[in-house]
Amino acid sequence: MAERAAEHSFASAFPIPAHLIGQVQSRLAYVDEAIQTAAISEDGGTVRLELAGGLDAAALAALEAKVLQVVEEMAKGALPPKVEVLEDHMARPVPYAEDPMPELLARGEVSREHTGIYSLGPLVTRLIEAFERYFVELAAEFGAAPQRFPTLISAEKLDRVNYFRAFPHSLTFATHLREDLHVINDFAEHTHYEEAGLNAPPESFSRIQALLSPAVCYHYYFALADKPLPGGQLIATAVGHCFRYESSNLNTLERLWDFTMREVIFVGPADFVLENREGGRQKVAAFLERIGLAYLVESANDPFFVGEFRKQAAFQNAFQLKYEIRARLPFKDGSLAVGSYNYHQDFFGRHLNISLPDGKPAHTGCVAFGLERLAYAFLCQFGLDPAAWPAEIREVLA
Ligand code: ATP
Ligand code: ZN
Ligand code: MG
Repeated sequence: MAERAAEHSFASAFPIPAHLIGQVQSRLAYVDEAIQTAAISEDGGTVRLELAGGLDAAALAALEAKVLQVVEEMAKGALPPKVEVLEDHMARPVPYAEDPMPELLARGEVSREHTGIYSLGPLVTRLIEAFERYFVELAAEFGAAPQRFPTLISAEKLDRVNYFRAFPHSLTFATHLREDLHVINDFAEHTHYEEAGLNAPPESFSRIQALLSPAVCYHYYFALADKPLPGGQLIATAVGHCFRYESSNLNTLERLWDFTMREVIFVGPADFVLENREGGRQKVAAFLERIGLAYLVESANDPFFVGEFRKQAAFQNAFQLKYEIRARLPFKDGSLAVGSYNYHQDFFGRHLNISLPDGKPAHTGCVAFGLERLAYAFLCQFGLDPAAWPAEIREVLA
């Protein structure tokens, strides 16, 4: 039987600044397998953990040291970023204020298959289709070429763009049994799911050549690698399954292991990418106004892991590389990122050797939406009864 969780609180070496509390807290999930939940007090001075029981004093001290290492690497001497708010419609009145999850679960509109893995029923599916219809229209306004990308992604290519250094914590690996008669027969005969996983010996599995894809636009850059960019500029769109292992941060439809992303992707000179990213933002703002969503758009950073976090987040902030669309979640007086506007400068162009007609590396950017999150935030603001939904969304359901 699993041992009872034990609470453990201790003081941080220094107060964690307010702007980093959420980010540090979410990284603590990855510090030790014994950590079940991690919270940082509002003043940033205390770390509260829920731990799997049975840790002795030495194990506890080692765990505390790891937590303090994260706090130190991410937060020591950190200056607050300049937060830029491009749009603020948080105060838009919306008709609903309950948590939609209990009813979604009760109606079978959302079924949990496993932590972070959910199936969606007809109402939520149609709602996502309504958003998708809009995104396809949006992409058409850019003349974006439709693309389909695989769910698996090449480990070799991800290595080329330093993905393993930036986001190691959230990777999901694809493996298979080694080509060996004994290994495969042994697996067939003895393998069962026990408590928290398959009981097969790790050496049965192949080395990793592929992962489950963490984003959509990477596939496009990989397809354009090592050649001149056709026509000097391109716009494409695709929807795809994305996978991010978010550990104990996995939480209802807010944070999934397996989710879907729709992207419009821009590749070309810097001004081309930036103008289109901005044009995309304005078009999306008009749509969100029509449906009456309460949200804001503000500067943000990608969820880099501990070692890369300070440098990379500061870099993204300094060069205005990422903005998030954060929708209001009225029932918890919070917000959730439902989409982002991203500019990568010539990062992919350099690492993947995508060249412009003048021989310089191409710049890239994208507009990305998390479809489950968008549907969830919408349901948080408008409820489950389509009669209360904005006409624009109701129409496409009919
Ligand atoms: P967050 O900071 O909330 O983890 P992110 O900055 O990592 O999100 P992006 O990389 O910008 O997200 O991805 C684009 C969109 O994909 C996000 O705005 C969000 O709507 C969605 N998304 C990202 N991670 C998840 C997840 N784990 N579950 C569901 N949707 C997600
Ligand atoms: Zn992208
Ligand atoms: Mg984010």
